[in-house]
Amino acid sequence: MAPSTPSTPHGGGRAGSEGSPAPTVAAPGTYTIEDVISGVKIFVRKPLPNGQEEQRKAEILSTRPKPKPSAFAPPPPPDAPPPDPRDDTEYYVHYVEFNKRLDEWVGGSRLITDKEMEWPKTKDEDKKKKEKVGKATPGASTPTRQAGSPRPTGSLLKKAATKAASAVGKAHPLAKGTSKGKVPQKSKGKDQSDLGNDEDDDQDEDGDLSVDADGDVSMGGSDGGEIDGDGEIDLSGPQNPQAAPKVFSKKQEIEKLRTSGSMTQSHSEVSRVKNLDKLQIGKHEVETWYFSPYPIEYAHLPVLYICEFCLLYYPTFTQLKRHRSKCTLLHPPGNEIYRHDNISFFEIDGRRQRTWCRNLCLISKCFLDHKTLYYDVDPFMYYCMTIKDEFGCHLIGYFSKEKESAEGYNVACILTLPQHQRKGYGRVLIEFSYELSKVEGKLGSPEKPLSDLGLLGYRAYWQEKIVELLLNSDDEISLEEIAQKTSITHGDIMHTCQALQMIKYYKGGHIIHLTDAVLEQHRKTMSKNRRSIDPTALKWKPPVFSRAQLAFGF
Ligand SMILES: [Zn+2]
Repeated sequence: MAPSTPSTPHGGGRAGSEGSPAPTVAAPGTYTIEDVISGVKIFVRKPLPNGQEEQRKAEILSTRPKPKPSAFAPPPPPDAPPPDPRDDTEYYVHYVEFNKRLDEWVGGSRLITDKEMEWPKTKDEDKKKKEKVGKATPGASTPTRQAGSPRPTGSLLKKAATKAASAVGKAHPLAKGTSKGKVPQKSKGKDQSDLGNDEDDDQDEDGDLSVDADGDVSMGGSDGGEIDGDGEIDLSGPQNPQAAPKVFSKKQEIEKLRTSGSMTQSHSEVSRVKNLDKLQIGKHEVETWYFSPYPIEYAHLPVLYICEFCLLYYPTFTQLKRHRSKCTLLHPPGNEIYRHDNISFFEIDGRRQRTWCRNLCLISKCFLDHKTLYYDVDPFMYYCMTIKDEFGCHLIGYFSKEKESAEGYNVACILTLPQHQRKGYGRVLIEFSYELSKVEGKLGSPEKPLSDLGLLGYRAYWQEKIVELLLNSDDEISLEEIAQKTSITHGDIMHTCQALQMIKYYKGGHIIHLTDAVLEQHRKTMSKNRRSIDPTALKWKPPVFSRAQLAFGF
């Protein structure tokens, strides 16, 4: 088990605790705050919006030393109370029986140590880990470099691999380096895409982070949208920049990322801990909900700044501004296949716009908790919905779709960005995905599992479309006809009808009938001013891929 850095805590350590006896409870007074380690359950003060506070039982998922304030953060007001020493350690808490979205870092002063606490199941093991965590420094920062010395380069993939490697605790030279708060210097790779969170060491006189000679600090590669043109990516990160790097094939790279911890949510503790607090996207500042595998240097930034058009990300607003003065993109980098009023859809090939699509996946992972793969964008097309104003076409949401789905899925991932949620755009995304299926002459269904919000959206959409058809047909309508007219699969129609108790056994067969309750609900839905797709504004032919193109470069 490699020592943990603050943002790669405790990978894999808990697997062995399964099947052990029930946790024991520590009575008040029998433990101190020093005993509060990963795995314990303790009461935590949770301020409520009404100014009150609540005591909630929470599981500690990770601990870290309090991150140093960003060099760009405003100084505390002069009348601010002195910092509470208990807050020198922060605890990542999951409120028991609350949605995971509410998980957060809290200072030690919010722990309630005069109530009972539950020990973790494997107390000794976690205690050992805690000792190691205590030694870690906040923010794996880059050591000071001389001017002109090579920047530690490395793509997002390398960083994620680093993180994954340290998370799974393999004896990995890079992981070891990271745990000591160092990112080894590497010189391989043409993507000058790394930017260490090295605020202390690399400040320019204007307080900005140092940048490459051309002033380009873009993440994820600025060389035309590919992490690496030859499809091979260095994952090993040698300590010695002169040493020949070990090169993995793309297939190995994906497999390693997929299986090594940072790519999955359920197999590792790492991804239970949200790593970023906020994203700034265009004019919106959005709180993140879930872990997203952004590079480890970004874990302690208060805000990550995202160019809303090219989706590159920056640790400071100054850097984003500098980038924006050069960035010419005003819409997603693909074909506009739909335009109606100010809403457009762009079709983007994951293989041709790898960096953009990966960056899109990183953003969406902040708000989706169930998808596991972020880097292999090649097999997908991305359908991005935008709203246009005088500044450009702003991303509202998107769905991805496999170029070839053996299971007949017409949507893989679907997301309305949080700043645009609750405005009916999710329904438009879903409707659009079925319009594409209609053009293809296929039935389609979203890939499972759906997120909670996704499932609600789909259920409402299926219900609306089925009821609409039943109401508008004079004669009896069969399941088959409903499927053909809506492109909704038989299974989804049946589930919807069963859930709404619309299936009746009649004369030896099953029929679908409308109930008063369903009709009433439908009237309510229809009375709302809903956004919808105008099918005549869709100018699209299903893309055709050759066998070679579908081989995805492996
Ligand atoms: Zn940009």
